[in-house]
Amino acid sequence: MKNNFQYIVVGAGIVGLAISEILSRKSNGNILVIDKEKKFGLHTSSRNSEVVHSGFYYPKDSLKSKLCVKGNKMMYEFCDKYNIPYKKCGKLIVANTKEEISVLDDILLSSYKNGVEAQIISKKDSLKIEPNVRCKKSLWVPSTGIVDSHLVMSKLENLSLSRDVSILYNLELDSIQKIDSGYSIDFVNDDSIITTDCIINCAGLWAHEIANQLLENKYEVEYYKGDYFKTSDIKNINSLIYPVPNNLSLGIHVVINLNGEVLFGPNVYKIDSVSYQNDSRYKETFLKEANKLLVNNIKDIYIDYSGIRPKIKYDGRLNDFIIKEEKTLKNFYNLIGIDSPGLTSSLAIAEYVYGLIQID
Ligand SMILES: Cc1cc2nc3c(=O)[nH]c(=O)nc-3n(C[C@H](O)[C@H](O)[C@H](O)COP(=O)(O)OP(=O)(O)OC[C@H]3O[C@@H](n4cnc5c(N)ncnc54)[C@H](O)[C@@H]3O)c2cc1C
Repeated sequence: MKNNFQYIVVGAGIVGLAISEILSRKSNGNILVIDKEKKFGLHTSSRNSEVVHSGFYYPKDSLKSKLCVKGNKMMYEFCDKYNIPYKKCGKLIVANTKEEISVLDDILLSSYKNGVEAQIISKKDSLKIEPNVRCKKSLWVPSTGIVDSHLVMSKLENLSLSRDVSILYNLELDSIQKIDSGYSIDFVNDDSIITTDCIINCAGLWAHEIANQLLENKYEVEYYKGDYFKTSDIKNINSLIYPVPNNLSLGIHVVINLNGEVLFGPNVYKIDSVSYQNDSRYKETFLKEANKLLVNNIKDIYIDYSGIRPKIKYDGRLNDFIIKEEKTLKNFYNLIGIDSPGLTSSLAIAEYVYGLIQID
């Protein structure tokens, strides 16, 4: 293996692959992407709702808002360019009580601020969009959609490889040392030592641990798991259906996939370590939440999969993405707390990171 690279991208989830793609397109440097798993996207990037969010939930100047709004458009353009399946199915956020209706007003305002098209519509109009929805009113957001995220990642990998990026799987970063010319990295399962000018740390659930090796002020990240249940009671729903959101998540919603299957999820609960083990203990909660959103009297649901959100430890402020070069460590870029809407934002995140690198 060659042992010096201009850029090392740690993590071949959707964010690492998007960064590798833009670097390979726009820079002349040689690039190595590593991932500890046997192929790309085996963690959060393949354990989510595959929703292309519109980006209106977050305060206007947050990274989440800016990168999601931009990422939404970039994702559809990317899919058009490379013939990747997606469906701009739109999303209904439903309100069934007075309090929920007033939350819709707040979300509508936030949508305007973020430049996202949305409107509050009557029950009658909601039913025209999705005949199975249960609501008194809803907020209709046409730019939300679903995408085949596996094919997006595969295309990003493919484009990178076609431009001579080295992508090594089954290679787990163990430690990083600061050296005069940059950084040296060694591995858990390989004796090689690789040096690089620039590290871009997109290691998802483990990114904070990698960053903290070199930092005095440590990042604190907490894990929040979300389960998905599938149903065979209903198929081919027209749009995504959400409740009004809560502080930690968007709430258990109706997820549809490109095969027309209907799922419910994800819920949100704190866990101490990464484990995707299926857990049916929330089945009753899911049934209750599903039937608040749909008129169908859903009875049969079964656990399907789970994902884990890496969230910056909550300190009372917005849980925004952290994407930055460390002040004391030139060319050490960390992406921490990339939870939702990281999939939607991935192409915009990559452009943002590329911009940070160019400023140097
Ligand atoms: C339940 C759930 C639902 C979600 N729904 C949506 C949604 O609908 N829409 C949306 O936009 N976003 C959604 N998200 C968020 C989105 O999935 C993530 O933001 C995104 O996938 C993060 O991608 P990533 O590349 O940063 O991380 P990951 O996909 O986790 O990739 C990180 C990679 O780093 C590798 N790695 C880690 N440590 C090392 C090491 N030491 N050495 C080498 N490799 C290493 C891992 O193997 C992994 O492949 C959801 C997330 C969850 C959990």
